[in-house]
Amino acid sequence: MIEHPTKSGDFAGTPLLRLRAWIGEQGADAAYVSDPVSIAYLTGFYTDPHERLMGLGITEGRALLIVPGLERESAEAGARGVEVLSWRDGEDPYELVREAIGRPQQLAVEKGHLTVAVAERLGAGRLVDAGEALRRFRLLKSAEELERLGRAAAVTDTVTGQIVEAMHPGQTEIEVGMVLASLMGAEGAKPAFESIVQSGPNSAQPHLRPTGRRLQAGDLVLLDFGAAWEGYRADTTRMAVVGEPDQRQRELHQLVLDAHDAAVARVKPGVTTGEVDAAAREVIERGGQGAYFIHRIGHGLGLEVHEDPSLDPGSQLPLEEGMVFTIEPGVYIPGWGGIRIEDDVVVERDGARMLTGAERGLRVVPA
Ligand code: ZN
Ligand code: ZN
Repeated sequence: MIEHPTKSGDFAGTPLLRLRAWIGEQGADAAYVSDPVSIAYLTGFYTDPHERLMGLGITEGRALLIVPGLERESAEAGARGVEVLSWRDGEDPYELVREAIGRPQQLAVEKGHLTVAVAERLGAGRLVDAGEALRRFRLLKSAEELERLGRAAAVTDTVTGQIVEAMHPGQTEIEVGMVLASLMGAEGAKPAFESIVQSGPNSAQPHLRPTGRRLQAGDLVLLDFGAAWEGYRADTTRMAVVGEPDQRQRELHQLVLDAHDAAVARVKPGVTTGEVDAAAREVIERGGQGAYFIHRIGHGLGLEVHEDPSLDPGSQLPLEEGMVFTIEPGVYIPGWGGIRIEDDVVVERDGARMLTGAERGLRVVPA
C-alpha cells in the first residue's frame, strides 16, 4: 500500500523541493530525471526532445535542466526553479550531464523510463528508482493543477455539445475524429489523445482506432475524446445513435449510465479504488451484462491521460482528497457494438466533484 503523509496541495514547497527532500531520505547523492512528463511536473516546462538528450540533474545545491539547443529559448522562458544548459548537434551532451550530477555513488533515476544505454553512460555506482515516488507525488493534485484540469474539462464539454450537430451519415470515423480536433482547436486547446470514434460493430472493441467506416442509419457511435489545457488532460465518452435508437440500444445505455452513477456516488475519501469499481460492476452484473464489462472502472488523469491511481477490480488504494480519475463503465458485445459513458472526477471531502459534465443521454444524429 502506498503511504501519503502529506497531500500535494498541502506540501510546503514545489514538487522540485519535495523530490530533493526525498533524494536525501533515500541517501542518494543526486537524481537524473529523464521522462519529459516528470520534467514538466517538476519545472512547468514540457517538450518532446525526440531522439536528442534532455535530462534534469538534481543535487543538494543545484537543479540543472539539460536541453537540446533548439529548445533553449522555450526552456528558459518556461522552466521554473532550474538553471538551463543546452548542447548543440555535434557536441557531447554527457559533458553537461557530468556537470549536473557529477559521479554519484547512488543516483536516483526513473527505472521505468531511462534506457539501459543511457544508464550505462551515467556511470553511477548504484541506481535507485525515483519513478514510483514521482508517481506518488502526482497522485494528489494541487489547486493549480485542478484549475488546469477544470479548463481542459470545460473545453471538452463545449465540444461535446457541438459534435453531434456536426455529424451526419456518410462521414467516416476518421473524419469525425478530425472534426473533434478542429472543434477543440477553435477553443484554443489540443486533443489530449487521438480521439476514439467507433461506429456500429466497431464500438465493441474498446481501443480500436478510427477507421474509414462510414456512419449509417442504426449505428451506435462511441465518441471518446478530451482536450488538453497547459498539459493537463480531460477524457470523456459519450454515445450517439444514427437515427432513432432501438430498444436494446436504449436499455443498455441506461444500464451503463446507472452503473456510472453508482460508481460516482461511491466516491469518497477512505473508500477503496476497488469499491468504486465494484459499485458499477454490481449494476452491470445485475443487468445480466457482467461478462461484457471487460475493463477496470477508471484511471487517474493529469499530465498524462493514464496515470495513477488505477481503479482495478479488487484494488485496495484508499481514495484521498485531490485524486483525479475517470469513471467509465462499458459493455462490449461482439458483433453488436459497445456502450461506454466516461467522466472525470476529483475526490473532495464529501464525495466526487464532476470535472466533466456534458449531457450524458443517448444523442441522436438525424439519419
Ligand atoms: Zn476515454
Ligand atoms: Zn479513460
